[in-house]
Amino acid sequence: MADEDHGEEEQGAHGEAHGHVGRRMNVPLPAKLELKGNLATNWRKFRRMWNNYVIVTRLNNEDNQFQTATLLTCIGSDALDIYDGLAFEDEDERNDIEAVLQRFEEFCLGESLGPASPFINLRSHTSVLSSKMALIQSCEAMVYNDVYRLTFDSSMLVDWLTARGIIGNFAGACPRCGTGELTRKKDPSYGRDGLVWRCRVKSCGQKVSIREGSWFSGSHLTMCQIMKHLYYWVYKTPLHVIQHELKVGSNSTLVDWNMFCREVCMSVIESDSEQIGGPGTTVEIDESKFGKRKYHRGKRVDGVWVLGGIERESRQVFLTSLPDRSADTLIPIIEKYVAKGTTIITDCWKAYSKLGQLGYTHLTVNHSEHFKDPETGAHTNTIESTWRAVKNTGLPASGTTKALYDSYFVEYIFRKKYLSGAEDKYLAFLEAVKKVYTPNMDRVIERLETKPSLERQPLKVKN
Ligand SMILES: [Zn+2]
Repeated sequence: MADEDHGEEEQGAHGEAHGHVGRRMNVPLPAKLELKGNLATNWRKFRRMWNNYVIVTRLNNEDNQFQTATLLTCIGSDALDIYDGLAFEDEDERNDIEAVLQRFEEFCLGESLGPASPFINLRSHTSVLSSKMALIQSCEAMVYNDVYRLTFDSSMLVDWLTARGIIGNFAGACPRCGTGELTRKKDPSYGRDGLVWRCRVKSCGQKVSIREGSWFSGSHLTMCQIMKHLYYWVYKTPLHVIQHELKVGSNSTLVDWNMFCREVCMSVIESDSEQIGGPGTTVEIDESKFGKRKYHRGKRVDGVWVLGGIERESRQVFLTSLPDRSADTLIPIIEKYVAKGTTIITDCWKAYSKLGQLGYTHLTVNHSEHFKDPETGAHTNTIESTWRAVKNTGLPASGTTKALYDSYFVEYIFRKKYLSGAEDKYLAFLEAVKKVYTPNMDRVIERLETKPSLERQPLKVKN
């Protein structure tokens, strides 16, 4: 026993036995928090061992930071990853043992508090993806429980989305003052996610939404709700079930988000489009106006014309958006995407009339009948089985506009091409989102440049 410890302990033998001597006797640290299996059970077990350890070693005589460091020493490296992703008010709270235990408790018990839903796959005895890092690295398909845990804490979700490049990492030079640095801060008053990028220079105070330039921007749903909705959409959950699970009052918001998902499908197919057709093949071409185009490439568009073609033989497709429907626009696009020698079927729109003179065999049909009732056979030139399959995707039976119908067609093609073979459909779709919406600060900079009058006043970025 070291001499300097004597003073206090000489007071009584009991104090000596239970006090410092306890830790010196090498009371073993509690075993690490096991993340595999049932996390809630594992946590309760760990918590019991920890509580005993604290008593035996009189750890609570030590300061907060020491206690927290001891906890983090024994809890294990996987759980440390969780700790890194937990939401704390500030650095002090991060070192506050009670706060740390509380956050771990919320995280670990979150699973058992999940809503009773037929869509929850309770894989309680398999390796549940428990930590942020595991979620990022795992190749295992995500189940609803994983999404539930991922969305349990918005700052963990934000970390996860940032790591995947789905929302922007704006840490770095402030676009306004140039001298300050943007850091991510908790701010319950800001937006719906309680997090914001803020310039550290007080006199500047520039704020940038954590959703800036991302797929999430502009929605009044929380990112957690959107991420859950996405999961439901990927697995074709009926709208009324999504509405019930997400507790969203109006279903028009969800209808919009289903549409935003289909827009992602469209954009991906568009960017991957290659030339189709050739001698001996038939390509059906059609143009459609997509109503609620969200903010494709940063701009809100009321509606956009899309030209699409499908080759009957191979079912290869091309899709591209159009500034207008004039012949000057349509013809060069068709020449780019459809090989000469192809038989092309279009509707009677006059812009197509030149096709017969450009190396194609051109046939026309009256499309307007078709989209009202795909099953009557009034339109014989479609790819019947594909249309039938589209109908089975959940297309409303009546009152379907052509634009809506076409968007389901695009969704169908997308699912077949990009999701059906994917290891994890949810992650595959998120990759598609990233491809279409690349978060950047261009618009913030644009706003700063066009509104110099706001210079002294923190810019409120709409979330
Ligand atoms: Zn600044």
